[in-house]
Amino acid sequence: MADTIAEQVVQAAQGAYAALPKHGKPIVRDNGVAEWTILAAIVLVRPDREPHLVSLGTGVKVLPAARLPPLGDTVHDCHAEVLARRGFLRWLVAEAVRVQRGEASEWLVWREDKFGLAPGVEVFLYVSALPCGDASTLHTAAHQPADAAEAFKNEAARRAASEQDTPPVPTEVVRGRNGYENYGAIRTKPGRPDSPPSISFSCSDKIATWTVLGLQGALLARLFEPVYLDHIVIGGVEVPEGQREDEWHATVVAEAERALWRRVEGIGALPPPYRLTQPRLHLTPRRFALSREAALASGASDPSTSTVSLSHVPVLGKPEVIINGCAQGSGWKAPGKVLLKDKQRSRVCKMEVLRAFVGLSAEAELADETYFSLKHANTAYQEAKAALRGVPAERLNADWAKRLPHEFEVTSAASGATAPPFTGWIPTGPRYESFTSRGVLAAL
Ligand SMILES: [Zn+2]
Repeated sequence: MADTIAEQVVQAAQGAYAALPKHGKPIVRDNGVAEWTILAAIVLVRPDREPHLVSLGTGVKVLPAARLPPLGDTVHDCHAEVLARRGFLRWLVAEAVRVQRGEASEWLVWREDKFGLAPGVEVFLYVSALPCGDASTLHTAAHQPADAAEAFKNEAARRAASEQDTPPVPTEVVRGRNGYENYGAIRTKPGRPDSPPSISFSCSDKIATWTVLGLQGALLARLFEPVYLDHIVIGGVEVPEGQREDEWHATVVAEAERALWRRVEGIGALPPPYRLTQPRLHLTPRRFALSREAALASGASDPSTSTVSLSHVPVLGKPEVIINGCAQGSGWKAPGKVLLKDKQRSRVCKMEVLRAFVGLSAEAELADETYFSLKHANTAYQEAKAALRGVPAERLNADWAKRLPHEFEVTSAASGATAPPFTGWIPTGPRYESFTSRGVLAAL
């Protein structure tokens, strides 16, 4: 029997990864410890074509907030899904340049005043494991020691007993994996428990954001229509002892749907062209060869996460190995007010995405505008984002905020508005986005 499209997408992603050189992939360390990682990919599909992999990322690391770069020249969040999406931004610009030159594109068209996907093109996100944060809370709890699993089961039962379809969303951001009982909460990425906290949000929160705002983000929204995910294919789902596989799979899919799009359904009115979307969820049995489950299955007793990330955007050439947010070979340098050298910057850092975007635009004056001002020039996008998160208004006063490099604001509802589903978001803000594509840091 022919594989479903979702399985073909998984094969395209895993096949592309397998064909890459070893450099940047998980290894077995000298002390025998096997490393693992997560693979994510954005794959485009249209009828009668092979699935087309446009961007792939691997990684499970995030830098603490103390290492946020003022010039946007390091990649702060190196989780696979985030790298795959940032690579997709570069692909969008590269493909748009081709269209601009009059070359034929099977995927992108120019419509009136913006680029958009060609009719019939569907966007798939493949991830080799449940996205971190809300979508994986139940799965993680079910594979934990009994007491943690029990606490979560109690909360799930309490919620099932309540009459609400969608539980009220906690309004305070939760750090990492703290508190399984904080069901539905937006969460920052954990990092190491002993490390200073990060303010990067979980992949579940980011993917849910893409279902409202699109994958293209605020910057590219100036020249691109929103690009929404049509399908999400997830691997690495393991059936806990004593559970029936079909029931467990149905539960995991329902949980992922709740976390990745149902959680934001209570949002207020969205300005066109933004809308709520409902990507279809698929689970794949196809195991990623360098996943944690694969390492365990091959006898590794205590596999460890790889510290290296990989970004591969075929249209840009060779894959890029990313360590500590920088292109490999450069060695990590504290983010500062002098731009990292060209070869040290990852192609998917904010600065490089900005430069590619400014290069695409016909407006020469954009070169002197800051990343922050360009992102905020699109009012429809910013209105949609405010409907999702609220606006920065209050100081973050969670316990762990004491360990951040300075005070951060969190979002809350604009006065009179209903509470947005992702109230409590911590935007990085102008302090880290006031750079121009020329590498100039504007005064705040
Ligand atoms: Zn993640």
